[in-house]
Amino acid sequence: MKAKVNKDICIGCGACTAIACNFFEIGDDGLAQTINTDENSEEINKERVITEEDKADVLDAADGCPVGAIEVIEE
Ligand code: SF4
Repeated sequence: MKAKVNKDICIGCGACTAIACNFFEIGDDGLAQTINTDENSEEINKERVITEEDKADVLDAADGCPVGAIEVIEE
């Protein structure tokens, strides 16, 4: 399971970064994005694998996003 933010929809409210602070951050554009954990990639808002540890927070953040901007990709 992976997740990323649809920046075309995000309004930058910051809720997801409060709920899942290890997974999402606010970028330079004022919108949420996944935190890049891949030191070999500078891609912004990369689809990030959801670990068991992050799963509850990320799914809570997706449920709580007021505009449904968090895309959870089932595999
Ligand atoms: Fe954007 Fe949704 Fe996160 Fe708010 S909760 S910053 S709208 S992705």
